[in-house]
Amino acid sequence: MGQEGMGYSSGKAGGGGGGALPMTAARARGASPLSTHHRSRKISRTFNNVKITVLCGLVTILVLRGTIGLNLSLPSQPSDASNATALNSSEAAAAYAAAVGNYALGPNVSGWDEQRRRWLAQNKGFPATVPGGKPRILLVTGSQPGPCDNPLGDHYLLKSTKNKIDYCRFHDIEIVHNLAHLDNELAGYWAKLPLLRRLMLSHPEVEWIWWMDSDALFTDMAFELPLSRYDNHNLIIHGYQDLLFEKHSWIALNTGSFLFRNCQWSLDLLAAWAPMGPKGFIREEAGKILTAYLKGRPAFEADDQSALIHLLLSQKEKWMDKVYIENSYYLHGFWAGLVDKYEEMMENHHPGLGDERWPFVTHFVGCKPCGSYGDYPVDRCLKSMERAFNFADNQVLRLYGFAHKGLESPKIKRIRSQTTKPINDKENLDVKAKMSTTS
Ligand code: UDP
Ligand code: MN
Repeated sequence: MGQEGMGYSSGKAGGGGGGALPMTAARARGASPLSTHHRSRKISRTFNNVKITVLCGLVTILVLRGTIGLNLSLPSQPSDASNATALNSSEAAAAYAAAVGNYALGPNVSGWDEQRRRWLAQNKGFPATVPGGKPRILLVTGSQPGPCDNPLGDHYLLKSTKNKIDYCRFHDIEIVHNLAHLDNELAGYWAKLPLLRRLMLSHPEVEWIWWMDSDALFTDMAFELPLSRYDNHNLIIHGYQDLLFEKHSWIALNTGSFLFRNCQWSLDLLAAWAPMGPKGFIREEAGKILTAYLKGRPAFEADDQSALIHLLLSQKEKWMDKVYIENSYYLHGFWAGLVDKYEEMMENHHPGLGDERWPFVTHFVGCKPCGSYGDYPVDRCLKSMERAFNFADNQVLRLYGFAHKGLESPKIKRIRSQTTKPINDKENLDVKAKMSTTS
């Protein structure tokens, strides 16, 4: 099977999927509005100018050398200039080493498992299970504190949150949408770390905390997490063992959708994950380490995904026995390989499968719908998000007798005639059973 088929094209940046940009053209994930796109275009123009200048210089020297016999030997040792850079970067490395350990997500909490157990025993009204006996899950998502650069971005944030509310109400899951940066140092995509820690500590009744990016949509409203599979694990994340341990790929795991068990181990992992996150010098220097360490990673500041991969690779023994790398269904599914196949899926399959037949989650990695500069054309992203939203929304509307006129249309049509005895039509109320059929 090709990489596409294996779902490997789950890149943070272009380079993975069909029609993607080469990895080197990837933007700095969530970097300043002066995106790498623009920056790299500018840099490459400058670079071309420099190349031409150097070339002209060389020709001049060769001509001079040939004509007037100047003896210009090329240095075989690194020049003073490159020694100076080496010194600078080792100074930077020393400064980084001194700074990186100083950051903490919060005061060190220990004995959390025991504290939580005691709290649950004393607060029987707030059990860690929901009626029906399933573990209590809190879905957490978030977006930047201010408006999107493009108003359409805010529209899709609303649709994305509407989509998550729908999934959560069908499956007895609680939901949080966070707009705040709880820690100024960890702004942007790092914001999920202090948030997850805070929510774990504030909600001892929650067993699983599930982070989902704002640019990820539930596209299978009937699929349920196979939680019993994870009884012995504390972190559930989509990815591939071989990409992680053999290839050291920066897209081996995807931090757009993952679950943490509310326990001491998870607090410890968050603490070990955070140090590369503080914005500015640390994040910039850490980015260099991550780019050198991970395969396929473009040069940009440290991002949460690369930092997690780096941590799990460098401290495999310490963490991996409690990490479940899931790929039997799309806990995260890269959008580019999925959005054009929805009609085919509707033709041949039904909700509830969660895998390539009917993907559980479609994640718009690299689209930056709320920002200005993504890796893909804005129109393609917005059109694809509209398709994913309507594909999912059809599964909701169907319960009430409606469907979208097409996957690209926000307009709906009636698909069932109305009845004067709605309560007698029992099947209509059996939400979950109805959802996973196509009739
Ligand atoms: N995010 C947030 N607060 C912010 C900026 C981003 O909570 O101020 C979240 C948001 O949910 C976003 C996620 O961080 O989806 C990760 O960024 P993004 O999805 O743009 O990265 P990608 O998946 O494209 O790598
Ligand atoms: Mn994302």
